[in-house]
Amino acid sequence: LVTKSHPEHQTIVKLSETVSVGGEELLIIGGPCTVESSAQMETVARQLSGASVQALRGGVYKPRTSPYSFQGMGIEGLEILADVSRRYGLPVVTEVMSIAQIEPVVTYADMLQLGSRNMQNFELLKAIGQAGKPVLLKRGLSATIEEFVMAAEYILSHGNPHVVLCERGIRSFDNYTRNVLDLGAVVALKQLTHLPVIVDPSHAVGKRELVAPLAKAAVACGADGLIIECHPQPEKSVSDARQALSLPDMVDLVASLRPVAAAV
Ligand code: PEP
Ligand code: MN
Repeated sequence: LVTKSHPEHQTIVKLSETVSVGGEELLIIGGPCTVESSAQMETVARQLSGASVQALRGGVYKPRTSPYSFQGMGIEGLEILADVSRRYGLPVVTEVMSIAQIEPVVTYADMLQLGSRNMQNFELLKAIGQAGKPVLLKRGLSATIEEFVMAAEYILSHGNPHVVLCERGIRSFDNYTRNVLDLGAVVALKQLTHLPVIVDPSHAVGKRELVAPLAKAAVACGADGLIIECHPQPEKSVSDARQALSLPDMVDLVASLRPVAAAV
């Protein structure tokens, strides 16, 4: 179901009435790793909506390495997301880690993120296939392209055609960068499937000073969009602080991407 049948075969996924991905316009999703407070999300939404960022991100159910790390705000965080989304007209994407979390997330958010750590959680893939909302499917930590494509196939075969693939870096031997951004996979996925493909340079590199050049490279490779972590006070971020852009840096990056997109 995910296979491209002819070169022009391309799915457009709608996040809202006015925001979509897979068509002419580059989709840029911005926001913090984790929703921390309504003041934080208000600041992010205000600054990003003025910078032609079309959607917001923010985790409320967080897949943390340590069980002692902050696990996310849950329903309270979903309420914050829904509130800023409505007031700024920006659709929101947030992660679901379990079947039980699908219902609340469907109620409050516009797009469900299925994170790297769950890319081969087959029961979750099947349930998300029946959720009736667009899905952002992130590549597993060491998933092959074939495994990634088959994970998307699970969602489509269970009834949900609104799937966006996200390359977010894969594990390799060098830990200077958090992961290795696989831009070859972006090109391959665009050739193999008709689904929109976006790139998350933040989780790929893990260091804020490396994010902007890779974001531009992703656009030059034909990515349909980007999802980038940014925060009002990056160094104070409760998770992934090292990779968060400041809001001014995010605004500058967005402006610098438009000419690259126009040239592709
Ligand atoms: C995230 O988007 O904050 C996240 C946890 O991403 P990934 O699943 O790619 O690690
Ligand atoms: Mn993160």
